[in-house]
Amino acid sequence: MQNDYEVGVLGAGVTGIATVFALILYTNVRSIVVFERRRGPAQVNSSRVNNSQTLHMGRAESNYNEAQAVAVSEDAQLVAGFVERLAPEAGQPMSTHMIAVGNAEVAEFRNRFAMLSPHFSDLRLLERDELARMAPKLMEGRDPKEAIVSLYSEAGYAVDFQSLGEAMLAKAIAEAKRMGKTLDVRFGTQVDSVRREKIGFAIVVKDEEYLVKTLEIAAGNGSLLIAHQLGYGREFAMLPVAGSYFVTKTLLDAKVYGFQDPSIPLAKAHSDPDVNDRGVMRFGPTARPMPLLERDSWSTLWEFVRVGTLSPRGLWGLARVLLNLHLLMFGAKNVLYELPYVGKWFFARMEARKIFPTIRARDLALAKGAGGIRGQLIDLRTGALMKAERILPPEGLHANCIPSPSPGASKCLGNAIVSVRNHVAWQGPGYQFDETRMRADLRRTNYGPRKTTAS
Ligand SMILES: Cc1cc2nc3c(=O)[nH]c(=O)nc-3n(C[C@H](O)[C@H](O)[C@H](O)COP(=O)(O)OP(=O)(O)OC[C@H]3O[C@@H](n4cnc5c(N)ncnc54)[C@H](O)[C@@H]3O)c2cc1C
Repeated sequence: MQNDYEVGVLGAGVTGIATVFALILYTNVRSIVVFERRRGPAQVNSSRVNNSQTLHMGRAESNYNEAQAVAVSEDAQLVAGFVERLAPEAGQPMSTHMIAVGNAEVAEFRNRFAMLSPHFSDLRLLERDELARMAPKLMEGRDPKEAIVSLYSEAGYAVDFQSLGEAMLAKAIAEAKRMGKTLDVRFGTQVDSVRREKIGFAIVVKDEEYLVKTLEIAAGNGSLLIAHQLGYGREFAMLPVAGSYFVTKTLLDAKVYGFQDPSIPLAKAHSDPDVNDRGVMRFGPTARPMPLLERDSWSTLWEFVRVGTLSPRGLWGLARVLLNLHLLMFGAKNVLYELPYVGKWFFARMEARKIFPTIRARDLALAKGAGGIRGQLIDLRTGALMKAERILPPEGLHANCIPSPSPGASKCLGNAIVSVRNHVAWQGPGYQFDETRMRADLRRTNYGPRKTTAS
């Protein structure tokens, strides 16, 4: 059996699979091995029930600045392009509203509209009357004196990221076969540890070892643990935050987001019709700290214990995080939402009615077994809770590490491009990445930012 590969990929969620897809189709890398401990692809945070299925396009995220909004849209267009061209079953166009309620929020959204509309030709500012016509449920029961506007877009997309992962992997496997490349995908295979070798890395799986020249650490919340094993990322620990959903019948066939507090790196609850059953809408996610890296897997308790948060330095970092009063209040409210019996009453009053004023607690049901865990990085140097991005390796260590990225599913192909640029550079002379062809293959033609940063 082969145990020597050019690239090793740890984790077959959408992040790892997108990198495999790009490596196979758009580079001359010839051998890749993928390790995934689940029985199939995209079954943890990328699963169809564990996230909000939103393709984040920069229009409905009030906490993004102008550059972030344009950048996330660029990456999301690649996912939408993949869905439209290669996997129509994985997603559907879905309009988005981002509503501002009250004078302060409305003033901010007017400025936001002025800032974003030069980039997004589809973006519209809906005033109260137009909003009432287009989305009566958002207005029913609302105080007529309350100021409200919506930043509305028809360019939105809802994606079943599990189906997306399955489709990207199927395409990569088919193309690898056609091109005579080696792509070994080992499901049901837990990576126990990773070690640095003179050239590349040894991946330890039970009593076997695999040698790879470059590494993609895409193990979701488990990625930080692997970086620690390789001796980097030690300035970070992790606060795992579970997100639950309430479900109800769809009141508006569009995604509805609200004003997001920029000091809290966790999305506020929003409403999202299910892409596979648009008659059902999910509300959430809530945010509850939980000592697990994967919600349905108690064995990840031990991984959490080892990720650094419970060390004296980690606990001090956590204490500094909790000094943020906004965050504490946000956490306290979310604890209420998860209480048995009364939780949905609190959720209806404190969250859901901000979107649909007439909704009642009895309309809501907790979605059992749904909702993933966002592994929020704690920066131990500053005591800040970060949006988890890429952890940069030290000079000479040829590993990409993408720990539970946010909004990672929307950015999976954009992240893959950055990773693959590194892989070909690290593999050495003679390796090439045809990024221009990849972007051209996946570009949507009907919507998109006017200014682009694409190559
Ligand atoms: C509640 C919630 C809502 C979200 N909503 C959205 C949204 O609407 N839009 C959006 O774009 N993003 C959203 N996200 C974020 C998005 O789900 C993730 O960023 C994305 O799914 C991450 O993909 P991934 O492949 O990095 O991780 P995962 O999908 O978690 O995959 C990691 C894989 O690594 C495997 N693995 C881990 N450790 C090992 C090991 N030691 N050996 C072998 N395999 C291992 C796991 O089994 C898993 O399959 C949401 C996340 C949450 C939690």
